[in-house]
Amino acid sequence: MKKRSLKRVIVIGGGASGLMAAITAAREGAKVILIEKNRQAGKKLLATGNGKCNFTNRDQHLSHYRSDHMELVEEVLKAFSMESAVAFFEDLGILVKDRCGYLYPNSGQASSIVNVLRLEVHRLSGAHLIKEAYNTEVLAVDRQDGVFKVRTEGWTYEGEAVILACGSEAAPKTGSTGDGYRFAENLGHHVIPPLPALTGLYAYENDRGTLAGVRMDAMVTLRINGKICTTEEGEVQFASYGLSGIPVFQVSRYVSRALKAGSRCEIDLDLCTAYSVQELTQLLIKKGQYTRERRGTDIMLGIFPEKLSQVLLSRAGISERKSRREWTDEDCRQLAGQIKKFSFHIFGCRGYEQAQVCTGGVPLTELKGVSMESAVVPGLYFAGELLDVDGACGGYNLQWAWSSGFLAGTHAAGNESYLFSSLAHNL
Ligand SMILES: Cc1cc2nc3c(=O)[nH]c(=O)nc-3n(C[C@H](O)[C@H](O)[C@H](O)COP(=O)(O)OP(=O)(O)OC[C@H]3O[C@@H](n4cnc5c(N)ncnc54)[C@H](O)[C@@H]3O)c2cc1C
Repeated sequence: MKKRSLKRVIVIGGGASGLMAAITAAREGAKVILIEKNRQAGKKLLATGNGKCNFTNRDQHLSHYRSDHMELVEEVLKAFSMESAVAFFEDLGILVKDRCGYLYPNSGQASSIVNVLRLEVHRLSGAHLIKEAYNTEVLAVDRQDGVFKVRTEGWTYEGEAVILACGSEAAPKTGSTGDGYRFAENLGHHVIPPLPALTGLYAYENDRGTLAGVRMDAMVTLRINGKICTTEEGEVQFASYGLSGIPVFQVSRYVSRALKAGSRCEIDLDLCTAYSVQELTQLLIKKGQYTRERRGTDIMLGIFPEKLSQVLLSRAGISERKSRREWTDEDCRQLAGQIKKFSFHIFGCRGYEQAQVCTGGVPLTELKGVSMESAVVPGLYFAGELLDVDGACGGYNLQWAWSSGFLAGTHAAGNESYLFSSLAHNL
């Protein structure tokens, strides 16, 4: 434990980044007040990784993060790296399970991550370094004569530093309802309009209803105004409203922005990446030798689930009543074409309720580098998803929360010596 700075640091938001910031600032010797509107801290964390909490990822290539200021994202992730996050949680008692680079607590329970954080907060609270204020909603944040006044219904808290860690608007049932954007704007910051990301996509095609419930591995290509924007591979889940599943989630942040700008978005699914159109055509022609008397979806048994075969046949213009014997080579070519380019016109992203994160937020250009301190208001710090950084699925959003939370906590407490220890740790 460091020498006490006696600086009063108010952390607004007891999510991933706020818990990290509060623990770090208290360990650095500040007197911390942690304010959370929910009855307990860490509600969203409990839902992460399907209840298992994919808390970081060994592959920290920058391409997994998106922001308008990637240089600072890189610096932040270097200053408190994936290795630092792993060491932090190991110190708190977490045994890490590595699933192909995706890191989870060995217990398989997100509650383990939440509980070790809560226990550490309680320990620091016992040492009078953290005061916990739960069930307490912050209504306004002002700064007068170098002192922040954080107003709640029953009390106005005062401090020399404030860390805004209120999250985004994604998954509002967990408490993050976008209040942080309002506080930041009132204090003089800009906010890049937040939009839902890591979420499903609404499609126009009427046959989406038939496909609901089907899951299929595919290469997902997003085209914006006809031009390829990005591709992702993985299991696509067809839903009554359109498309879902991790590869769809990954491209959704681009769709959100493109649709907002009035652009046209299409998703092409390659449902058989191992074969070219020509190879598939030959395969379907060859399959005719033993499927001659079969009709409709029976012809594609063993290749696709029945509902998917039904839609593919219909889109290829092949009647379900036509027996395989009656198919022409052109029918096979049409069907192969559909399998390789199964297209959907996208008209929306699912809303904040279903989104895991938001794209947009407070621009990193308005920060004083890795200190996470505002360049507009001295003593104001930011952490987590409230900032203009969104990560891909795979532990990247939590890594951002840990890294930014750690740095905000350290600097708000007034201690920069972390730089040396963190650099040493990364060597
Ligand atoms: C279903 C789901 C699954 C996810 N799975 C993963 C995963 O496996 N891996 C991963 O890396 N990421 C995952 N994420 C994303 C990740 O959870 C978030 O990016 C991360 O939790 C953001 O942390 P944060 O501290 O910025 O915000 P939050 O965790 O949202 O915390 C913000 C806190 O601030 C509080 N607050 C807000 N306004 C006020 C106010 N006015 N007064 C007081 N308190 C306030 C809120 O109640 C909330 O507790 C998932 C998200 C969801 C929704």
